[in-house]
Amino acid sequence: MSTQTTGFNNRDAVWQSLQHGEQDWDLVVVGGGIIGAGILREAARRGQKTLLVEQRDFAWGTSSRSSKMVHGGLRYISHGDIRLTKDSLRERERLLREAPGLIERMGYHFTLRKGQFPGRIPFSILLWLYDTLAGIKNHRYFNKASFASHYQGLNMDGVTGAMYYTDTVTDDARLVLRVLQEAINAGGVALNYSCAQSLVKRDGHVAGVVLQDVESGVHVEVRCKAVINATGAWADRLRNEVNPEKRIRPLRGSHLVLSRHRLPVTDSLSLFHPVDKRPVFVFPWEGTTVVGTTDLDHREEVDQEASINTQELNYLMRIVQAMFPDHNITTDDIISTWSGVRPVIGSDSGTDPSKERRDHAVWVDNGLVTVSGGKLTTFRLIALDALNAAAPALGGLTVQEPSDAIFRVPALSVDQMDTPDKPWAQRMIGRYGDHARQLLQESSDAERQLIGDTQFCLAECRWAARHEAVLHLDDLLLRRTRLGSLLQRGGEALFPALESICMEELHWDTARWQAEVARYREIWRKHYYLPSD
Ligand SMILES: Cc1cc2nc3c(=O)[nH]c(=O)nc-3n(C[C@H](O)[C@H](O)[C@H](O)COP(=O)(O)OP(=O)(O)OC[C@H]3O[C@@H](n4cnc5c(N)ncnc54)[C@H](O)[C@@H]3O)c2cc1C
Repeated sequence: MSTQTTGFNNRDAVWQSLQHGEQDWDLVVVGGGIIGAGILREAARRGQKTLLVEQRDFAWGTSSRSSKMVHGGLRYISHGDIRLTKDSLRERERLLREAPGLIERMGYHFTLRKGQFPGRIPFSILLWLYDTLAGIKNHRYFNKASFASHYQGLNMDGVTGAMYYTDTVTDDARLVLRVLQEAINAGGVALNYSCAQSLVKRDGHVAGVVLQDVESGVHVEVRCKAVINATGAWADRLRNEVNPEKRIRPLRGSHLVLSRHRLPVTDSLSLFHPVDKRPVFVFPWEGTTVVGTTDLDHREEVDQEASINTQELNYLMRIVQAMFPDHNITTDDIISTWSGVRPVIGSDSGTDPSKERRDHAVWVDNGLVTVSGGKLTTFRLIALDALNAAAPALGGLTVQEPSDAIFRVPALSVDQMDTPDKPWAQRMIGRYGDHARQLLQESSDAERQLIGDTQFCLAECRWAARHEAVLHLDDLLLRRTRLGSLLQRGGEALFPALESICMEELHWDTARWQAEVARYREIWRKHYYLPSD
């Protein structure tokens, strides 16, 4: 069996070399979300010696808590922002082509109601333009009867029909991991649980970061030619060391995860909330039905993990109960929740959160490049913008938009995977690239069985524990896999099997396992379940 390493599991060695000052870094990227990962990828492939540091786990921030839609952005086109829509659609189609199995097309039904804007004709024109910009033709009108047949028990009062179109859906945390894997393959280095505590300055100019190993408490000064602050909702913090301006308005969005047996949907349903007329999506995701999102100012400390509050829970339950009255959905049907904080480049706190623009910004202050805002879909373009801003410090690096792929096309094909389930084989290649076959080979038959209604298996847990820089149980259940969000009670039925895997792969003893279970239960109960307020 040929074995390849992923390059994620050299954390101790990298920390050793940092302490001995053995490496000369060109670039340090702070933040291990999708934007940081994209920058690491783009810098490494241009031969820049680049280190990415993430204070918690990879994708721990907003990039594991989005609505999972790699979308062109109908709202941009409806605001007349054709350029942003066009860029987003081009990136969306590119990602679909390059990472099938990780990014999948999903149908959307937008309900039409009497007297509601946009009605059928303007909506059709909008969708024609949307599809034309993407180079596809996937939209159509459904009359009331054919629309009703798609959604069992949907309240059709006032509904005149629906517009159908397509966008795409992903597993955001795995998208970050796949981009990081590409970056590491190109020579980049990524460290989780490593916090950039402050900036190092030489003659007032940013020349590095003071880094803390969050696990051991060790500090080290890392010097480099350029620092990019890609910390999303945290961006003001490092930036305020060189510029006091506050630009980030943190907006929270929360989602409910329901059993698909209680609320089955095969496409995404877009509904206008009866209270404030905001669109709320009810969509299938990883064997469950997800409802979201809310959109409100996040007034808590950003370092505290975000959680849904009672107001948001009631808001989302209200639309589910109003639109699916016969399903009698109650909070007992909620498997889990998640909340994320959107780094919106704020105008002022008086503006309605849903009217704030969602594009990104790049600032340069005394050599520190800060990038924030934007969305998953355009991560590559945002990364290129940030790298461009750092180019003078990197010796005039040329940052033209590359014509080659974001993801190398895996040499592995579905036929080479040892499974008759071809769609699942594609899913595994989308997520693990050329490692997908090795992942299956390193596990037992029993570990390759799918878990519950999900498409995940224990083989992925073993692989992640062995190869993907898992430091805590929550890394494994909430980001490397999403089992903690998809199974009842945070997936605790898997604990006996996971205990063996963690003992074998991570060399945890019983005391460590119990401490990890206690930590995980606390995180899950406070931040991935029902509100405690
Ligand atoms: C509810 C919600 C729904 C969304 N839905 C969608 C969607 O469907 N489609 C879409 O395209 N976009 C969506 N978005 C937007 C998208 O998720 C974000 O724009 C994107 O994830 C931001 O990525 P990022 O890398 O900038 O930030 P993050 O993912 O938050 O990464 C920043 C990282 O920096 C780390 N960090 C902070 N300070 C330090 C430090 N000092 N040292 C080291 N590390 C540090 C943090 O821990 C964090 O992990 C949504 C956002 C929200 C909130």
